[in-house]
Order: sequence, then C-alpha cells, then structure tokens
Amino acid sequence: MSQKNFAVILLGANLGDKKQMFAQVETHITDNIGNCIKKSALYSSKAWGFESDDLFYNQVLIVETEYSAHDTLLRCQAIENKCGRVRHEQAGYESRTIDIDILYFNNDIIETDDLTIPHPLLHKRKFALVPLCEVLPEYIHPILLTSNKNLLANCEDEGTVEKVEE
Ligand code: ADP
Ligand code: MG
Repeated sequence: MSQKNFAVILLGANLGDKKQMFAQVETHITDNIGNCIKKSALYSSKAWGFESDDLFYNQVLIVETEYSAHDTLLRCQAIENKCGRVRHEQAGYESRTIDIDILYFNNDIIETDDLTIPHPLLHKRKFALVPLCEVLPEYIHPILLTSNKNLLANCEDEGTVEKVEE
C-alpha cells in the first residue's frame, strides 16, 4: 500500500469557534487520512441555501493519502462525527459545527450511492471555488474539462466570499 492519492477536501463550518475547529479537524485528517501538503486561507461567506446569522467559513486542504476515495469518505465522516456535527430532523441545509466534503480525488470520476467525485456542486459554489483557486487554479475538472480558475470566472453564484484576515 504505497500508492499516493491526492484528495482535495473542503472544510465548512458555521457554528462556534470555526478557526479552532478547522485546526482540530486538520490534526485529525493528518492522523487518520494523510499529510496535508497545501492549504488555502480561511474564507467567510453568508450561509448558502438556508437562513442563519452566522457566517460560513470554508477552507480547502490538499491531502496525500494511501486510502481509496471511499475509505477517505468514511474517515472524513468519522472525523465529522467526532468533532460534533449536530444533525436535525428536518431535511435540507442545517447549521453544523463541521462539514467535510471531497471535491476531487486524483483525476477520478466516481458515481456511487454514497460518493460523487468531482463533488457535484463545486462549480456552482463560490465558497468552494474561491479557496480552491488559491491552491489549485490550473487543475482541470475531469468532467467539465476546464480549469478551476475558469469555473470561478464563469460561476453565477452571487455570494460574496472574503478572505478571513489573521
Ligand atoms: P452536504 O455536504 O451536502 O451539506 P452531508 O455532509 O450531510 O451534506 O452529506 C450528505 C451525503 O453526501 C453523505 O452522506 C455522503 O455519502 C454524500 N457524498 C456524496 N459525494 C460526496 C463527496 N464528494 N464528499 C462528501 N460527501 C459526499
Ligand atoms: Mg458534506
């Protein structure tokens, strides 16, 4: 088991101390998935798709891993659970302490019941594309066959995404 895969992971949070949460999650990712070889700054945006007063925070990590895409997903979900995601009864979007999504996995295209890669909404969401373009502007989306930079330039999401100053 020595083949290195690279996973592009999007962290999202809109409750509590988000910066501290991202630091904690990064430690869990390093310990349970693999080394983080590059990461974006933190970005904030208005919560997307549901009403909430809290700002949404996002960050993209590039992680080197020996695990498969599916095992990486299971490990991301275990970290979400450990770090205290609050699930509510009603369907749809919800406030949560942490959301961990896999945007890309190598150049793979995966469509199974519990995993779709590339993430099906990434090109529609500025809060994913802005941090993604900081770390991987030239990467070509394996289905849309254009760069992350171009996806951002053509994205119709009206939301404002701002870098969180340290
Ligand atoms: P969302 O991320 O859409 O806000 P959840 O985090 O609750 O919602 O994820 C719902 C489901 O999405 C998960 O159970 C997972 O199996 C599935 N899923 C499909 N593709 C991906 C992906 N690329 N990354 C993370 N989860 C995914
Ligand atoms: Mg998710």
